[in-house]
Amino acid sequence: MSKKKSTILGLLGILLVIIVAIACTKYSQHQKQLQEQKISAMKKQSSKKVVAAAKASSIAKQKKENAKWKKYSTKISFPILMYHSISNVSGNSLCVSPEKFKQEMQWLKKHGYYTLTAAEAYRVLTTNEKPAKKIVWVTLDDGYEDNYTAAYPILKKYKIKATINLITGQIQNKQANKLTVAQLKEMKKSGLVSYGSHTVNHLDLSELTATEQNYQIKNSKSWLDKTLDQNTKYLCYPSGKYNSLTLTEAKKAGYTIATSTEEGLASSSNGLLELHRVRVSPNLSDTGFQNLLEYGE
Ligand SMILES: [Zn+2]
Repeated sequence: MSKKKSTILGLLGILLVIIVAIACTKYSQHQKQLQEQKISAMKKQSSKKVVAAAKASSIAKQKKENAKWKKYSTKISFPILMYHSISNVSGNSLCVSPEKFKQEMQWLKKHGYYTLTAAEAYRVLTTNEKPAKKIVWVTLDDGYEDNYTAAYPILKKYKIKATINLITGQIQNKQANKLTVAQLKEMKKSGLVSYGSHTVNHLDLSELTATEQNYQIKNSKSWLDKTLDQNTKYLCYPSGKYNSLTLTEAKKAGYTIATSTEEGLASSSNGLLELHRVRVSPNLSDTGFQNLLEYGE
């Protein structure tokens, strides 16, 4: 064999090895791709199954909850408790200590009280049905940060639902001692805490013009709706002050229920946008607390 021929054969040999190597790599890549596609299809399938199972369990839970609701022939009235700050500031009627708040929440649990959300309160008031013999709606006004640091752990401990009424301008301005958006979202996720509007700036609505009231009532709702991904239907009047313009603006903005600070049990005869509440003062005895719940005073 000439030297030239053997060089050509040698080169052809190398070329063949390269072609085989490329073919092998391509084949193994293709196999890997097929494997990956298979795994991802399996994952999709199983996540679909998980979603379907979760959906079915939530429907079953809803059905079970619905079954508990019973219609009554006499008009239902119930207490809407009003708290503000949960902190140890003595002499301030707006501050209930964490110890006292804990005792009261424990008392509710022990005595079989069902704690309502705003939506459930609306259902009670409009259908005269309730999910348990004893019901109560726990509300906290003004959005103090201690609602997260002090009240929230207690609500979780006793599985008590509560509604916090937020002054949206203060949260937007990141005011000290007030809740942050991250805290709001975390509490909402627990399913225990829901939110109502306490207007943008906590002004006396009865002193404002219709345009000013419209701003306070409507803008707080749209901020809450957008920030917390909800349809806010509950409004709490700052210091309980309102007038006929307020009722018109609240209705127009899409609220279905609103609370004043008028003392007493709430019932549909108050008017859905003028519900009474009961103020929980800092040093209430057990009997005092029981009277508030039963008689609204
Ligand atoms: Zn307030």
